[in-house]
Amino acid sequence: MRIIVTGGAGFVGSHLCERLVGEGHDVLAIDDLSTGSRDNVAGLLPHPRFALFVHDVTDPYFAPADRVYNLACPASPVHYQRDPVKTVVTNVVGTINGLRLAARTGARFLQASTSEVYGDPDVHPQTEDYRGNVNPIGPRGCYDEGKRCSETLAFDFHRQEGVEIRVARIFNTYGPRMAIDDGRVVSNFIVQALRGEPLTLYGEGNQTRSFCYVDDLVDGLTSLMEHPSETGPVNLGNPVEFTIRELAEKVLAITGTDRPLAHVELPIDDPKQRRPDITLAARALGFTPSIALDEGLLRTIAYFRERLASA
Ligand code: NAD
Ligand code: UDP
Repeated sequence: MRIIVTGGAGFVGSHLCERLVGEGHDVLAIDDLSTGSRDNVAGLLPHPRFALFVHDVTDPYFAPADRVYNLACPASPVHYQRDPVKTVVTNVVGTINGLRLAARTGARFLQASTSEVYGDPDVHPQTEDYRGNVNPIGPRGCYDEGKRCSETLAFDFHRQEGVEIRVARIFNTYGPRMAIDDGRVVSNFIVQALRGEPLTLYGEGNQTRSFCYVDDLVDGLTSLMEHPSETGPVNLGNPVEFTIRELAEKVLAITGTDRPLAHVELPIDDPKQRRPDITLAARALGFTPSIALDEGLLRTIAYFRERLASA
């Protein structure tokens, strides 16, 4: 198939492109390199079935396609809050441009949505029918409401234009190729530990997240895309929950570092708890994340060790 991956030079996008090229598809990554990088797809660039188009998805684009994975959007709170208006525009106009392309070509369209649509959830674990607790006017609103609107757009193009859609609600995912300056917790803690710096624990570290290794997520995304009828939204993530303090302790233990934690104020609207209910993904897609946090951290630490050494 001819497959477009917007955000294809980003962390998740590059792993997805690698998987799709490996399966024999023609893959066009569309990315403005704002938070992704050419390095992420360096291994794919010589491949005859892969191309990178450096382009901002908020400007219309066209290429023949059978599938569109729409991942273009900054994902780390540090990145998406840097230019919040652009984050909203990317989620709204960028998604419209991808959906228009899908409507013209007849391509199936998958939207990379997020657990942030649940905001600071008062239902735990989060099921797809929970409508969330988002602060529309807070600093996370540009991303949370932008992604909620991207889901609305997908379903409206489905009802109005007959576009075949898939909506994945992705929970915290980590792995090699996260940017060193990404600002998300797993890469921050690993980079800080490897540099011998104190790990920055926001608040008391009692807030929870459930961390999914990127290969497991890519399994879920491709299975959802190729499901004959499931539109979603479908939660994709690893349902094993940790406090952020536990994560810090694991990173210190695995890297063999012994540093005090640096206590930093908890950001506004930081969700207190998060864990996906993946009953639907398991039943409809056979989705069962197989890489435990310790194993995923080992692989991710090995990647950052190499990156920091070569930098
Ligand atoms: P990332 O920042 O590494 O990747 C995003 C990519 O999109 C980057 O390559 C960036 O350059 C590109 N991009 C951003 N704005 C663009 C624009 N206007 N035009 C073209 N390209 C643009 O982040 P990621 O973790 O790989 O996230 C990928 C997608 O998955 C995002 O849509 C994100 O919201 C979603 N998601 C990720 C997670 C996670 O934990 N990794 C969780 C929930 C949702
Ligand atoms: N966090 C932290 N230290 C950091 C970065 C993040 O304690 O250096 C916390 C953050 O407050 C949040 C959790 O880790 O509770 C996950 O943050 P991240 O930015 O990775 O993603 P989020 O799930 O908040 O979008």
